Amino acid sequence: MAHSERAHAKLSASGAYIWLNCTMSPSLSEGVPRKSNKYADEGTLAHEYAQWCLAQRGVGKSSAAVNVSQEVKELFETNLGVYLDYVESLAKQTDLYAVEKRVSLSRLWENDRQKPPEVMFGTSDFVALTPDKILHVVDLKFGASVAVDPTDNSQGLYYALGTYLSLPENIMPPETIRITIVQPRAKHPDGPIRHWDVATVDMLDWAYSVLKPTVELIAENDKTKLSIVEGKHCRWCPAASGNCPEKRKTKATSAKAAFAD
Ligand code: SF4
Repeated sequence: MAHSERAHAKLSASGAYIWLNCTMSPSLSEGVPRKSNKYADEGTLAHEYAQWCLAQRGVGKSSAAVNVSQEVKELFETNLGVYLDYVESLAKQTDLYAVEKRVSLSRLWENDRQKPPEVMFGTSDFVALTPDKILHVVDLKFGASVAVDPTDNSQGLYYALGTYLSLPENIMPPETIRITIVQPRAKHPDGPIRHWDVATVDMLDWAYSVLKPTVELIAENDKTKLSIVEGKHCRWCPAASGNCPEKRKTKATSAKAAFAD
C-alpha cells in the first residue's frame, strides 16, 4: 500500500499522543479537514520512495516507482540511506518482518470477549521480530524541525501493540519491544537513529491500564467525563486552529494583552 493511501482511524496511532493527553480532542477535531502542506507532502513522498528503495534491496513487496524531480531525488538519496540500511539490517536477521504493516487494536477487546468501541488501526513503516525476542517498530520521520523522541512514544506503542496482538500463537512471543525513530534531518543528541526499549509486560500494562480505558472513555462521549488538556501535543491537534475553546481563550487573552501594551 502506498503511504499516501493509508486510511486514518478516528483514534489513530499518529494522533495517540494528542487523544491520550486530551480526551476531548477527537470530538473537537471531528470534521476539521486534514490540511496538506509542503512538509507533510514531502514526508509522504519520502516514505513511498523509501518503500520503493527497500523493495529494490529485496526487502518487502515491490511497489511502484515514485516520480520525483532531480532535486527531490537528491534530497531523498542524501537522507534516506540511514533508514534503508537500518531496516535492511533487521530484515537480514529474520523472515518475520513487514514493510508498511497494517495493524489493528481490535483484539485488545476481542481477547476479553468484548466488542471494540472504536475501529482502531494504523500502518507502521516497518516491524520485525528478531531471534533475540525483540519486537522492533521502526518509524521514519522525514521532518527536520521537531526531533521526535522514542521514549514513551505512544504512536510506536500503538504499532507495537497491534503487531503483538496479530502474532500467531505458534510464535515465541517477544520479551522486549524496541521502538526506533529514524530521523535523518533533525538534530538530536542521540543521533539520527534513536531507540527505546520497553518490556512486553510493561507495554501490555500500558495497554490495559491507560490505552483501553481512555479509548472507552472517548467512545462513551460523555462530555462531563472528557477533559481538555493543553500541552505540547496541541501543536498537532486539528482542533487547535479554531474549534478548541481553550485555544480561543488563549488567543483572546493574547490579543487583549497586545492592546494593553
Ligand atoms: S488544541 Fe490542545 S487543548 Fe485543544 S482540543 Fe486540541 S489537544 Fe485539546
